[in-house]
Amino acid sequence: MKISVLGAGAMGSLFGGLLAHDGHAVSLLDINAAHLDGMRERGLLLEAQGSAQTITSLSVSRPEAARSIPDLLIVFTKSLHTRAALSSLNGIIGPQTLVLTLQNGLGNVELIKEFVPIGQILIGVTTWPADLIGPAHVSSHGEGGIRMMSADGVARPEVAAIAAALDSAGLRCVVDGDVWAAIWEKVAFNAALNSLCAVTGCAVDGLGAVPDGPQLAASIVTEVLAVARARGIDVDLDGCLANLSHAIATHHGHKPSMLQDVLAGRRTEIEGINGAVVAAAREVNVPVTHTATLLQLVRLVEARACASHQAAR
Ligand code: NAD
Repeated sequence: MKISVLGAGAMGSLFGGLLAHDGHAVSLLDINAAHLDGMRERGLLLEAQGSAQTITSLSVSRPEAARSIPDLLIVFTKSLHTRAALSSLNGIIGPQTLVLTLQNGLGNVELIKEFVPIGQILIGVTTWPADLIGPAHVSSHGEGGIRMMSADGVARPEVAAIAAALDSAGLRCVVDGDVWAAIWEKVAFNAALNSLCAVTGCAVDGLGAVPDGPQLAASIVTEVLAVARARGIDVDLDGCLANLSHAIATHHGHKPSMLQDVLAGRRTEIEGINGAVVAAAREVNVPVTHTATLLQLVRLVEARACASHQAAR
């Protein structure tokens, strides 16, 4: 299969590296010059599933330089960069190209639909973790999986073929017609933990220092899943609350990506997570007071972090 990955940071490099290792022709498209140069010079060092390997079969370039039309394009930029990334491609999305998003948050299909007919879009969720350790070096500690389906809900043989390719690469992928429930449950989890850690500077376990942390997190998860239910999605509130408690009890020292972004003076994915929930809540008239307050607080924290980072340059 010819596969291109648009946004080859932590997740894009992990997925691209494993798919290349499994024999696919993979192109990584990114704008991070040091990462691209490092992969050109020495390949991608990939630490995953208990072993380390160097993948040298990857083709790497900036998005606008890509010429070959892939069978599958995986979008793995942060959601706030999706539009710019897709806009920079020079006609490589053909009529047969399927475009897969496993990005966090809501609104990813709506955005990709600006560029590709919905029948070519695949939507899903992944629980694989990944970190970009440095240029040309990605690490994934832990286990995960992928659930996905076609964005228009039509079961097509090509979707099963893509799932089989991801599964064969070791990424544990299933086609799941209920993927929207999993997407909303992950959004609820991220809306709570990412935003609370970004605002407080706490690692996930730090939220458990006083009862207020878990209580606030549970209020946000409950609000988000009430919105999902009002939109007809059959989400598992008890399961999600149990995952939340487990994370606060066991994710020692883990800084969610939104906190990492704030610390690095980068913009966060808050608009695609809490922002999108608040917009969706308005449509179904469900109150989301805590989620909306955290949205406003993260906007403030993010603005301050970006400004002081700029000033320090
Ligand atoms: P990342 O920041 O490590 O990677 C994003 C990449 O996109 C970067 O390399 C960046 O240079 C690139 N990029 C930015 N603008 C671009 C453009 N215009 N054109 C091409 N490339 C561009 O982010 P990540 O951690 O890999 O996350 C990607 C998505 O996956 C996010 O939506 C995230 O929430 C989700 N996710 C992440 C994890 C994780 O553990 N890292 C797990 C599940 C889901």
